[in-house]
Amino acid sequence: MFPKYDVIVVGAGHAGCEAAVAAANMGSKVMLVTMNMNTIAQMSCNPAMGGVAKGQIVREVDALGGYSGIVTDHTMIQFRMLNLSKGPAMWSPRAQSDRMLFAGKWRKMLEENTNIDFWQEMVTGLVVKDGRVCGVSTGMGIEIESKSVVLTNGTFLNGLIHIGEKQFGGGRAGERAATGITEQLVELGFEAGRMKTGTPPRVDGRSLDWDKMEVQPGDEEPGKFSYTDTPRLTKQRPCHIAYTSQAVHDVLKTGFDKSPMFNGRIRGIGPRYCPSIEDKIERFSERTSHQLFVEPEGWDTCEIYVNGFSSSLPEDVQYKALRKIVGFENAKMFRPGYAIEYDFFQPTQLKVSLETRLIKNLFFAGQINGTTGYEEAACQGLMAGVNAHLAVREEEPFVLKRSEAYIGVLIDDLINKGTKEPYRMFTSRAEYRILLRQDNADLRLTPLAKALGMNHMDERMEKVNTKVAQQKELISFFKKLSADPAEVNPFLETVGSKPLSQKVKMNMVILRPNVGIKALREHAPALNEFLNNYDEEVISLAETTLKYEGYIRKEEEMVEKMNRLEEVKLKEDLNYNGLVSLSLEAREKLTQLQPRTIGQASRISGVSPSDISVLLVHMGR
Ligand SMILES: Cc1cc2nc3c(=O)[nH]c(=O)nc-3n(C[C@H](O)[C@H](O)[C@H](O)COP(=O)(O)OP(=O)(O)OC[C@H]3O[C@@H](n4cnc5c(N)ncnc54)[C@H](O)[C@@H]3O)c2cc1C
Repeated sequence: MFPKYDVIVVGAGHAGCEAAVAAANMGSKVMLVTMNMNTIAQMSCNPAMGGVAKGQIVREVDALGGYSGIVTDHTMIQFRMLNLSKGPAMWSPRAQSDRMLFAGKWRKMLEENTNIDFWQEMVTGLVVKDGRVCGVSTGMGIEIESKSVVLTNGTFLNGLIHIGEKQFGGGRAGERAATGITEQLVELGFEAGRMKTGTPPRVDGRSLDWDKMEVQPGDEEPGKFSYTDTPRLTKQRPCHIAYTSQAVHDVLKTGFDKSPMFNGRIRGIGPRYCPSIEDKIERFSERTSHQLFVEPEGWDTCEIYVNGFSSSLPEDVQYKALRKIVGFENAKMFRPGYAIEYDFFQPTQLKVSLETRLIKNLFFAGQINGTTGYEEAACQGLMAGVNAHLAVREEEPFVLKRSEAYIGVLIDDLINKGTKEPYRMFTSRAEYRILLRQDNADLRLTPLAKALGMNHMDERMEKVNTKVAQQKELISFFKKLSADPAEVNPFLETVGSKPLSQKVKMNMVILRPNVGIKALREHAPALNEFLNNYDEEVISLAETTLKYEGYIRKEEEMVEKMNRLEEVKLKEDLNYNGLVSLSLEAREKLTQLQPRTIGQASRISGVSPSDISVLLVHMGR
């Protein structure tokens, strides 16, 4: 019934969708097997993409030819650039999407790709021969052959849902848990663990008193995620802000004895940075109020997501507590919040390509690797899809360095350090933040994707070339144009900047703190006239490049130093146990993780600088 595929992707969540399109756009014949075709690209929790550090990842996925940014642009109902009051390294795009449109657009884009076939069924096992994966087997007993497999099972592996004292199997509310895969992988020698996450109740927007809440509108000039010609928002739906109170907390506390979090029924480790409301009350007992974001789930639905109120308390306790929130006095609940426990696999069992060490051509991506978040899943999917394609062709894997992308940071962290709790991206995890900005992901990564041979990168590459050329034109213009004191001094005074006593070059004015090009151009006609020929995005990029030139150079120098270590390759069969000068822990970890380079070895926890010296001496350096 089925041909032999190059790549089978198991699961059509954020990781699976990106994996399928990446492999297909590289030229592989792909089969996407998923339990339910109606839930392709379902947003399990909040219908929002991006946010701090996560927004940068979506931009990177887009720059590498992935679709998450395009889908978000087509389906968002609100856009905000977060952290604009901080430096540009921290600017992070975030969008609220229409949940149903998001899933629909993803499915359409997948269906448009003739290299992708679909099959709706639960995969219950892998076909493995001589240490190599050769396909998958399904619940109906069908075997589908392939040269590689990417597992992206998300929260579905032996998923167990908790609401108060009730617990039942499920991968998400209303969907079955997936069985068979964990058991087989453990038998094959993999180490599995258990994690948990949770989601808040959804309420009926018609029952809320919106006038009692603060409005949180989108940006006046909404941006977007994709570097391609996706549409810009012309209208937006606002979000709102509400607060819990002592009265809300008191009601919630009445359910604590039935909370699976507190009575030991949930054993999986949850995301520390995304705690449930009961967790927040317990951990920060001195606080009498917590902020909630009241977010619409789409254009045409009254369903509302209560961000910040994640809970696995009994549904009646959730309901009563919600009604104590100002503005929620008459709230009706559509769906209760719940917690879910699921299996994951320590990512230290993966190579840098996301291929497993134990089984050749078997790749893992997304929540199965102990991460949390759509963005973290999407980028791993893309990388696993590309590398599955390359593995089939016996080509070198595609690897991003920590200095090239947040994606590089994420994968490097996972495979070298593993994770004890659901891993999410933060800007603080990256050491080269000023290089890894959301505004330059295309300059950093599109040339790499083009060189890989993805089949839809020509137009993107043209855009990058234009952007680079325009950025140069702008910077050299700023360096040539003189600022006239009579024109710009009134503006400089308003921002507390010393007036000019004589003409100086415009780049020197732009370098001053508090002076932004956007405001400056209104007072400098020649500058304004020139800038009118350019897109806002490239003007902002030129401004950042100019203003942060010193920091950028410093980070580039650090990268260069680190790259020297990244270039020192370690032999795959190096006998670390034979190097007695290495600490015992280093010998163990290096043998287990088999780093590719000295740089990678230096980031493994338990490998000290003196161990690195031993390795360098051993290599004659
Ligand atoms: C209740 C809940 C709350 C969450 N809360 C948050 C949050 O607050 N913040 C946050 O960042 N993230 C949260 N997440 C996590 C977020 O949803 C995931 O990180 C993200 O969806 C992971 O993407 P994925 O592609 O790895 O897996 P998923 O999106 O889970 O997709 C898995 C896909 O695989 C399919 N599948 C699974 N097993 C099989 C099989 N054996 N055969 C065929 N198909 C299979 C499923 O049908 C599904 O399509 C939450 C998730 C849940 C369920």
